[in-house]
Amino acid sequence: MENEMTRLEMVRALVGEVAELAPGEVWLAGAGPGDPALLTVQLLAGLAQADAVVHDALIDPRVLAMARPEALLVPAGKRGGRPSADQADIIARLIALAGAGHRVLRLKGGDTYVFGRGAEEALALAAAGISFRIVPGLTAGLAGPALAGIPTTMRGVNQAVILATGHPAGPAVPGDAPEPDWAALARLGQTIVIYMASRTIGRIAAAMIAGGADPATPAAAIAAASTARARVAVTTLSGIAEAVAAMPGADPKIVVIGAVVAVRAELLALADQVRK
Ligand code: SAH
Repeated sequence: MENEMTRLEMVRALVGEVAELAPGEVWLAGAGPGDPALLTVQLLAGLAQADAVVHDALIDPRVLAMARPEALLVPAGKRGGRPSADQADIIARLIALAGAGHRVLRLKGGDTYVFGRGAEEALALAAAGISFRIVPGLTAGLAGPALAGIPTTMRGVNQAVILATGHPAGPAVPGDAPEPDWAALARLGQTIVIYMASRTIGRIAAAMIAGGADPATPAAAIAAASTARARVAVTTLSGIAEAVAAMPGADPKIVVIGAVVAVRAELLALADQVRK
């Protein structure tokens, strides 16, 4: 107990008062792309207070190790195509834990509200009358490219960033959710960042090219961003499917399409802090 109080005190010393994770409350928190150094201070405060941590499969064990030693760790992972906890079960578990008076931290990869089903969980908690707080995290679609030396915006190059899912129904959920109109998105000429596209990128790139996109448009795939397994492949729209297929299958990947990808080569030539 002494250690955990010390951790919370340390967070308080850094930022002054931090929010209290109250008994019966749930924090829906984003843990960033992987590297524990990219956690928010508010998430550290949540880890220092939680009685139960309900976490996705992609959460780094070092992050879970920051929970209080007596905290209950509940895996609720979702990985595309793998057996996973059902979303309804996860929601039921959150409601049961909070209903029993626990202080609950729901830990997701990246940002809570970017393709992580955080909104569904927030709506379900609200409907059940359970108080909750959103703790935003760094989303992989912005942090991943940045760490790879790819700015998602650059003055004079683009004026918008599109965050899209290559797997509209979400991981491990079969179904026929509507797909983005890839050709229309590509025609905007802006940066397109695609999550969960490992298995669909061939079809997506073909749809863009069929819709008039230049096959030579710069494109990159970034795997396991911010972790020791991080990989970056820079190619073109016509080569992106092959580049993604050549990366380790189990690692999560972000695809970036657009002229900003070419900035990486310029940066690499000038700086050595860009991840190869
Ligand atoms: N809420 C998360 C996204 C969840 S969907 C966020 O804001 O980042 C899961 C997808 O996120 C993966 O399929 C992959 O496309 C992406 N992703 C998550 N972590 C990643 C990482 N470290 N490197 C590359 N892509 C990652």
